[in-house]
Amino acid sequence: MKYDLLELQDAMRKVLKPNRYVHSLGVQYTCASLAMCHGYDVVKAQVAGILHDAAKGYSDDELLRRCKKHEISISNVEREQPYLLHGKLGAYYAKSKYGVEDEEILQAIIFHTTGKPEMTELEKILFLSDYMEPSRKMIPGLEEIRKLAFTNLDLAIYTTLHNTLNYLKSKAQTIDNTTSEAYEYYKGVINNKR
Ligand code: FE
Ligand code: FE
Repeated sequence: MKYDLLELQDAMRKVLKPNRYVHSLGVQYTCASLAMCHGYDVVKAQVAGILHDAAKGYSDDELLRRCKKHEISISNVEREQPYLLHGKLGAYYAKSKYGVEDEEILQAIIFHTTGKPEMTELEKILFLSDYMEPSRKMIPGLEEIRKLAFTNLDLAIYTTLHNTLNYLKSKAQTIDNTTSEAYEYYKGVINNKR
């Protein structure tokens, strides 16, 4: 399929708040860089990047309402923390509003919020780009992850999940099971490679 990246940027500029749009552009270009580095399709990576937060502009109630309307399943953790749903709803809009049929892209959008075990290359690229794009404010460990993403994808994923879980624990936030499972999985991957 042929994608018009300018058209997708234009669409996101209309639905997202300015700072969220700048974030999405940053994710798009970081996805492109990581795709170049790791030999992945540069266009597909950018489509995932620019569209990944397509459903980010909604309030919790609105996210729940829209997911119900489109018969998107809602887990207990998602009911408690509806912002987690912007991945699933975003993928739904990527397909229905922006014409993306590619399952690899849609899956990457679904899992960009939580990560998951056995991520595909695109899932890894998007998950990391979302975390490290240039407009993200500097936090401890970010510099290291930005380097690792270009040298060791799995170690970068592991480190990101590790830091994310620590952050969520420090804020006493409910943690999505998928994120904990992803962490355990990548811990295993890293230890087996050592
Ligand atoms: Fe997001
Ligand atoms: Fe994002």
